[in-house]
Amino acid sequence: MASLELNALRKEFDGGSIVAVDDLELFIEDGEFVTVVGPSGCGKSTTLRMIAGLERPSSGRIHIGGNDITDVHARHRDVAMVFQNYALYPHKTIQQNMAFGLRMSTDMSAEEREQRVYEAAEMMGIEDLLDDTPEELSGGQKQRVALGRAIVREPDVFLFDEPLSNLDAKLRTTMRTEIQRLQEELGITSVYVTHDQEEAMTMGDRIVILNDGKLQQTGKPTEVYQNPANQFVAGFVGSPSMNFIDVEAESVGDGIHLTGSDGAFSYDLTSGRADAFGDIGGGSYVLGIRPEHVVVGEDGGQNAVPATVDVVEPVGSDNYLYLDLGSESRSFDTEDAPDFIARVPADVEPEVGDLIHISFEESSVHLFDAQTGEAVT
Ligand code: ATP
Repeated sequence: MASLELNALRKEFDGGSIVAVDDLELFIEDGEFVTVVGPSGCGKSTTLRMIAGLERPSSGRIHIGGNDITDVHARHRDVAMVFQNYALYPHKTIQQNMAFGLRMSTDMSAEEREQRVYEAAEMMGIEDLLDDTPEELSGGQKQRVALGRAIVREPDVFLFDEPLSNLDAKLRTTMRTEIQRLQEELGITSVYVTHDQEEAMTMGDRIVILNDGKLQQTGKPTEVYQNPANQFVAGFVGSPSMNFIDVEAESVGDGIHLTGSDGAFSYDLTSGRADAFGDIGGGSYVLGIRPEHVVVGEDGGQNAVPATVDVVEPVGSDNYLYLDLGSESRSFDTEDAPDFIARVPADVEPEVGDLIHISFEESSVHLFDAQTGEAVT
C-alpha cells in the first residue's frame, strides 16, 4: 500500500496544441478512494494512463509510496488498472486471465499462483467460472473477472477507468457497492475515473473535479456540493444542476439587493447571508441556487419571485418544476432562456401555466464572480 502523488503533471499532444492535462497537483493518501470526474475530454483517462505508465508525461513527476516512478516501465509499476471494456483475453480461461498478471513474478510457485487466483475469485464470487472463457460470461461477470485480476496482483494502487459504463443501471449500482466494499476490505489506494458525477459523489472518500485538463476542486463530496469553488463545479455537481441567474449586486443597508440583468428579477439577501459574502460592493455576479433549495410559496411575500410553471415532472418522492422566472408578464420566456428548476415535495403539484411564487433557502444561495466564475466566499 502506498500514497500517490502527482506533481505538476502535464501532457501535451500534437506538438503542444492540445494540453490534455495541465500541471496537475494531487496528493492521494495511502488507502484513500478518490474519484476523478469531469466532462468528456477533460483529461481523466490521460491522467490515469500516465499513472499506469501507458502514457509518458510531457513534464511533471509521479510518486508512489514516496518513490519517483515517472520513468519506470508500466510493467514494473505496482499498479493494476481496470478498464471499461474489461480487456480480457478471449481465448484464455478465466483462471488464465486472472493469473496473467502474476506470470511476471518468477519467484512464485504454480501452487501459490493458483491459490492467489482462487482467493481473488472467491472474493468476487466467480470461483465457479474459472474454467470458462470470457465469451461465456455476462458483462457483469466479465467485470468481476477484471476486478479479480486486479486483486490478484496485490498492487499498491488500483486504477479504474470508467469500469461500469458498459453495464445496465441496476448492475452498475450493485457493482458500485461491491467495488467500495472491496476497496475498504483491501485498503488499497484507488483512483476511480468516471464522467458520472453521481457515481463520483457516492463512491469517493474524496472527489477530484477536472475541466480542460485543470484541477477545479478537490474535497469530500459533501464539501464540494455545499461549497463549490467556482461556477463550473457548482453546475457539474448535483442533479438536477444548480440554477444560475445573471445579477447585478448592490449593498442596501446590511443586506445585498440583487437585480436580474434584464431587470425582471429582484431578490434581497438579508444581513446574515450578506455578512457571509463579505463586502462585495456592487457589480456583476451570477446567483446560484440548487433546485432542492427553492421554496414554493402560496403568494408573494416580501422576497417572492413570481414564476410561471412550464412543466411538472414527477420523479417519485419529489416533483421537478420547470419554471419561467421574472415578471408576471413572463419576460424571461424566450426560446433560449435556460430552464429554472425547483425540486419540491411530491405533494406540491401546481398546474402547467400556474403563476406561483418562489423564494430561496438563504443559507444555500451562492454567488459567483461574473468574470472569473470564482465563488464569492
Ligand atoms: P472521455 O471521458 O471522453 O474519455 P477524458 O476526460 O478521459 O475524456 P482524455 O481522453 O484524457 O479525456 O483526453 C483529453 C484531451 O486529450 C482530449 O482533448 C483528447 O482529444 C486529447 N487526446 C487524448 N489522447 C490523445 C492522443 N493520443 N492524441 C491526441 N490527442 C489526444
